[in-house]
Amino acid sequence: MKHLLVLGGGTAGTMLVNRLRDRLARDEWRMTVVDRDDEHHYQAGYLFVPFGGVRDDDVVRSRRRFVPDGVEVLYGEVERLDPAADLVRLADGRELPYDQLIIATGTTPRPDQTPGMLGTEWRRSVHEFYTLEGARALADALAAFDGGRFVAHVCEMPIKCPVAPLELLFLADAHFRERGIRERVELVYVTPLDGAFTTPVAAARLGHMLEARGIAVEADFVVERIDEAARALVSFDERRVPFDLLVTVPVNMGAPFVGPSGLGDELDHVRVDPGTLQSRLRQNVFALGDAADLPISKSGSGIHSCLDAFVENLVDHVHGRPLRHAFDGHVTCFV
Ligand SMILES: Cc1cc2nc3c(=O)[nH]c(=O)nc-3n(C[C@H](O)[C@H](O)[C@H](O)COP(=O)(O)OP(=O)(O)OC[C@H]3O[C@@H](n4cnc5c(N)ncnc54)[C@H](O)[C@@H]3O)c2cc1C
Repeated sequence: MKHLLVLGGGTAGTMLVNRLRDRLARDEWRMTVVDRDDEHHYQAGYLFVPFGGVRDDDVVRSRRRFVPDGVEVLYGEVERLDPAADLVRLADGRELPYDQLIIATGTTPRPDQTPGMLGTEWRRSVHEFYTLEGARALADALAAFDGGRFVAHVCEMPIKCPVAPLELLFLADAHFRERGIRERVELVYVTPLDGAFTTPVAAARLGHMLEARGIAVEADFVVERIDEAARALVSFDERRVPFDLLVTVPVNMGAPFVGPSGLGDELDHVRVDPGTLQSRLRQNVFALGDAADLPISKSGSGIHSCLDAFVENLVDHVHGRPLRHAFDGHVTCFV
């Protein structure tokens, strides 16, 4: 019996096993999904938490519920991947040998990567909304915010859902208008990009939407540190952006086991062929979703877009056939 092991039971891992289980004979292929816990988070829902009306059970469900019969679910932290030995080790010491590995461990906000971010202002005037805990803390901060400089900020690309910080600003604009305090709030978007978004057409369109709402854009801003005493973002070229309430998107990084495995890039995203998502170094390793170093928006919609080609290629690959399908990089995203 061969073993197909999927690391990560988030959007990508869950979608994959649902599509793949019936495509591989059950008496030939055993399938396992590993994740650290049974909480499947609908991360897109975090965006609405700061503005109220979203309960935890709107965005968190049992992971097991979404995994089809015939796929084993294991709970544990993936600590080590040894691609030369086709072996994964969990933090509790369990060892999982595999014939075929799919890395779907996503990407995670890492506030520890920016000096000053995790200082005394963290969760006081410095917030994030890329975790449920962070979005909840921001809800409290927003409720207490009565005016001043509200700064939304992206540390560096790539981040998952690159449009989410803009959506946050649009929602904040509406929120402050509803509360009747919009004229007391200065809204600013600080980005390392040269405009509102990654691609030129969307950047122009979204730029107009920001302008129409009186939201200022501070572009080409590569943050070096947060000056917590002065409550200011400081860039490498010594520009300063003061804030009363900062909502930042920290550096997004892949899972820590990716780096030591030798399969990742400097941000611990898995280096893959952009058409097939096969590891550039190991033929029996693929990466799906945010974990891959694809030059596209890291998003659930991106996973939808590449899944057809991915599944067909994987089925061909495990049967020893050449990979005939290629993802063209097209992603559709609703704002
Ligand atoms: C605020 C916000 C808004 C968003 N809005 C949208 C949107 O509107 N549209 C859209 O398409 N996308 C959106 N996204 C992006 C979308 O949520 C992600 O791109 C998607 O979840 C990626 O799926 P994934 O499976 O690659 O990673 P994830 O869904 O993050 O799953 C990774 C899984 O791996 C597990 N894992 C990680 N490391 C380990 C380890 N070492 N051991 C064990 N388990 C591990 C995690 O627990 C997690 O369950 C948004 C994201 C955010 C944060």
